[in-house]
Parts: sequence; structure tokens; C-alpha cells
Amino acid sequence: MKPIHMNHMSWPEYQRRVQKDGATVFLPCGATEQHGPHLPLGTDHLLAAAVSESVATRVGGLVAPPLAYGYKSQPKCGGGQHFCGTTSLDAATLIGQVRDTVREFARHGVRQLVLCNGHYENQWFLTEGIDLAIRDLGPNPPLTVMRLEYWDFFTNPTLERIFPEGFPGYALEHAAVLETSMMLHYHPDLVRLDLIPDDGPADFPPYDLYPPEPAWVPPSGVLSSAKAATKEKGGWMVEELTDRIAAAVRKEFG
Ligand code: ZN
Ligand code: MN
Repeated sequence: MKPIHMNHMSWPEYQRRVQKDGATVFLPCGATEQHGPHLPLGTDHLLAAAVSESVATRVGGLVAPPLAYGYKSQPKCGGGQHFCGTTSLDAATLIGQVRDTVREFARHGVRQLVLCNGHYENQWFLTEGIDLAIRDLGPNPPLTVMRLEYWDFFTNPTLERIFPEGFPGYALEHAAVLETSMMLHYHPDLVRLDLIPDDGPADFPPYDLYPPEPAWVPPSGVLSSAKAATKEKGGWMVEELTDRIAAAVRKEFG
């Protein structure tokens, strides 16, 4: 099997894969953010990287080193910035990182680039970074960029199977059933099953306050119960994500 990790390759090998084979490059985008007492701080970038690896293996692509820091954690979808360990970027910093890396991949001769996002708060700043890079590259940019949030690829039948009692929504799924099940699939050694809390679902008002009110957020940092997480559910999710993201990449990039 061909190697898939850019950071494990020499530059001539990478150049061959990109320029001769026309390999699609995946850039995982995550965060370093609290994920309760049972999941590691790297959960968002670890999952973005793992999903990227699954899809890259399927389509013969490459995976670049992840952007491991993300936009500031928001109370309603990541618990907020008051947790120790959460390490976040200002929007302008994240936009700059994305703009610079996209422009560099274009210089390498990458023709298809996929930004696979694993941190809810990143979305519009990734969009802005890509948009500025494309503008930098002029009227006929040499590469096409796909941006995706991996959770958008779950189908309703899968969500119904995973959440027989009702899906709380992706924002409240922070460190809960989805991420815990996927971590049990990809990185079982990093999950502390004995520490899974039974918090939430958190009940937020329909507005925000600045500075934010930490009392809105369960002290564990988990926004809805992770108790129903299993490795088996993680396997179903990864199978569906891999199939459907690979199909999207093939449809757009051939
Ligand atoms: Zn997360
Ligand atoms: Mn996150």
C-alpha cells in the first residue's frame, strides 16, 4: 500500500504523488480543546485526521499534518474558553494559517485539496482562509478546494440507529455519543470508559453573553450524555463517513 502521510515522505516522493499521480491532499482541521474527563484534548484534530486517513486510503490521497489549534471554543458547542487545556486561536490567526497553507499546496502543484473539519467553531474561518487564498491565486487558480464538516455526511437512518431516543443536534454532541464512539473506534487507548460522565443535555438560553457565563456549561465540559457511546456505533459512523466522503471526492475530483 502506498504511504499516505505527507510528513512521513521525502520531498521527491511527495512531489511525485502530487504532480505525477495527481493525488488529492487532505488537510485535517481541528482544535486543542477540552472534551470532558474521558476524551483527550486532541479529540477534534485526532478525529479530523483519522477520517482524512480513512478517506485518503480509499481514494489514493495524501494526508497533510493537521491544523491542531482552532477557533475559540464557544460555550454552546465546545464548552467555552474557561477550561484548562483548551488552546485556541484568534480568528485572524486561523484565517492566516489556512490562507498560507492553501497557497503553499497550490505552489506544490496540488490540484485537489480537501479541508476536513472536526471543530464546529472553525467553519467560517476556514471558509475565509480558503477564499482569500483563492483570491491570491488569481482568476484561474491551479487548485480546487473542498471544505467539509465530517458530521454533515451522516444520514438520518444512521442518526436514528445511533440515537434511538432522539438526536440532540451536532452542537450539543460535544464530547458525547458521536465523538466518544468514533474515538472508541479509532483511538480506544485514549478513551477513559470509567470516567464517561452522564451530564446534560445542557440547557442554553437563546442568546450569548460576553464575557461568557461558565455556569451555563456542565462542569465536566460534556454538553450531552456520552453514556450511550460504543465502539460498535463508532464503526457504523466511520463506515458511513468513509463511503460518503470518498464518493463526494470522487464525484468532484474524479
Ligand atoms: Zn470535538
Ligand atoms: Mn470542538
